[in-house]
Amino acid sequence: MSHEDFPTEKPAVVTCGLPYANGDLHIGHLRTYVGGDIYSRSLRTLGQKTAFVSGSDMHGTPVAVNAEKEGVTPEEFALRHHEKYEATFPRFNIEFDNYGHTHDETNTELTQEIVRTLEAEGYVYEKEIPVAYDPDADQWLPDRFVEGACPYCGAHARGDECDEGCGRHLEPGEIEAPTSTLTGNPAEYRERKHKFFAVSDLQDYLQEFIDRLEGTSNARNQPREWIEGELQDWCITRDMDWGIDYPGEEGDDLVLYVWVDAPIEYVSSTKQYTERVGADTFDWEAAWKDAGVSESDAGSEARRTESGGDIVHIIGRDIIQHHTVFWPAMLRGAGYVEPRAVMASGFITLNGKGFSTSRNRAVWADEYLDEGFHPDLLRYYLATNGGFQQDVDFSWSKFRDRVNSELVGTVGNFLYRSMLFAYRNFEGTPDAAVSEEVETRIEEAIDEFEAGINDYSVRKSGNAAVRLAQFGNEYIQRNEPWKLTDEDPEAAAQVIRDCVQIAKAIAVLFFPVAPGKMQALWEQLGEDGSVTDTGVDDAFEAPPATFGEPEALFEKIEAERVEELNEKLEARVAETESESDESDEDAEENMDADTDSDIDFEPIADDRISFEDFQDLDLRVGEIVAAEGIDGADKLAKLTVDIGVEERQIVAGIKQLHDLDSLSGSKVIIVANLEQAELFGVESDGMLLAAGDEADLLTTHGDAVPGTKVQ
Ligand SMILES: [Zn+2]
Repeated sequence: MSHEDFPTEKPAVVTCGLPYANGDLHIGHLRTYVGGDIYSRSLRTLGQKTAFVSGSDMHGTPVAVNAEKEGVTPEEFALRHHEKYEATFPRFNIEFDNYGHTHDETNTELTQEIVRTLEAEGYVYEKEIPVAYDPDADQWLPDRFVEGACPYCGAHARGDECDEGCGRHLEPGEIEAPTSTLTGNPAEYRERKHKFFAVSDLQDYLQEFIDRLEGTSNARNQPREWIEGELQDWCITRDMDWGIDYPGEEGDDLVLYVWVDAPIEYVSSTKQYTERVGADTFDWEAAWKDAGVSESDAGSEARRTESGGDIVHIIGRDIIQHHTVFWPAMLRGAGYVEPRAVMASGFITLNGKGFSTSRNRAVWADEYLDEGFHPDLLRYYLATNGGFQQDVDFSWSKFRDRVNSELVGTVGNFLYRSMLFAYRNFEGTPDAAVSEEVETRIEEAIDEFEAGINDYSVRKSGNAAVRLAQFGNEYIQRNEPWKLTDEDPEAAAQVIRDCVQIAKAIAVLFFPVAPGKMQALWEQLGEDGSVTDTGVDDAFEAPPATFGEPEALFEKIEAERVEELNEKLEARVAETESESDESDEDAEENMDADTDSDIDFEPIADDRISFEDFQDLDLRVGEIVAAEGIDGADKLAKLTVDIGVEERQIVAGIKQLHDLDSLSGSKVIIVANLEQAELFGVESDGMLLAAGDEADLLTTHGDAVPGTKVQ
């Protein structure tokens, strides 16, 4: 890949997928926003000039449909949700530099300008297409106003998206057996002229783009199938009045499709930030446009990688296609900078099942705070519980485990004991130089932090500080300063001096994950100002010579609390279920992580097998040594697995489902005596066991070594 490591000299823009102004936020929704906030704070800590922006997605049919149900205007309806989101994010320490919305003047103007540019560059054409129409309601039926069957997989689908089946974006006219959601009647298809964006003209460009794209492997790999296949042009207009008017066709009830103006809000929001703070602080044009490059350079390779800023999009994995195909095509066509990286997060389940807003099966954002939990605890859980692209399960008991063992037991314990010791014996930072061992360990922690950012892993960058605290605990234990205070006060001073420096380094490196708690630590260390303004070099600066008595930063969550919270949740779900026999469909769009996975399990096989038959399988514990995608194969990866007696090469269909770079070191279970096979020209000697469509890899609970037989 052709990008320089972070920090670079360029301005960076970190964006979060726009929440759709149509519902309440639950903690599952917060994952991408927490991830974005941590990522942008971390970039700044590394010294990168960074803007962190987002805004509410106000347009589209779900807002129009629900506003109509409530008898209010779409604008009123969407603004109400927008204001709620804007107020909720800061309560979780998610602090955007600018948070706008797609219906404001900046975005309306910029959207129309970009569409005009695409027209002028010859990327827009008009075509007559069949559009669903409800003759009883005398109305066109864009997107969510129509339902039917997906033409690709047959699943029940909404007008613009096969949300229950293959997940494809659907163009107007594609849905089969259409029915109107207004009247429930079958819809007719009528011919109507619409505007199209010629995405197919940019196919060659997109193929190069996807090779350059960084981020999580799902976002880099999944689009290949779409880009390399037949690339469909994209209908960018809709017959309705809620949205941004197609430029030049104002008052014609022809608006731009919501997916045109929604991502443009990333640019508009950055522009509003510049308007507020001035271009010297952050120049939106330097970040998003190719300033200073003449038209004649427009096609050159250098233009794309060397000018403009570093744009990082952080999204849910259900909108990868929009961000890796349509959006870069639009940016390219209009002369803007392409994204450097896309990080696509997995979904969140609650006690192993999907969140369901209609069944009230959720932990709501407000509810979490009302229960008295600090936002940083949830931030830590969401950011470090799994790789960013993996699905993460939330349960109150898992939450308690992570808080008690890591935040209280490791981080809090180290900070409290070392600072209390320093306060009682030295009234602050002892007068000594930091030992070489500790200085080196802090350097390592900074390297891990930096590597996490360059690997687009907030888990890795977040864990750097936790691992440093772990080291701190071992260091105190090993050096036993409490024995030294009388015998050898100088040696005691040395140990405590080291520990105070580790505490300060933790404040700097853990601040992106836990900004509130680390600000408190900063103040306990006697430091002035805000930890926000620090960089990694501050991890080596001595804290003030005196500071006060510390207080514990993290508190244990009791088991009874968890029981109480689980009972509350169950009672609420039961109540909601008894209230409504039919479950309303969750009308949420792009921010929606509700997969409502009441999975249809396959029935248990009728035929029983003998124990001897089972024993014929030679199952072994293995450890992944290396994993790489197989070129040309969408799904296959080549793994090297250590099974104790030897290393095996195994081909597995996990390329798009796992972050291959992070797999090495993982314990897996393999069938060691499966006959050898050749897949895509690569020999496979054994089989990896995995559960379900997402290929959840089987592993061991204890520490069985590679080669151990599974029985
Ligand atoms: Zn489908």
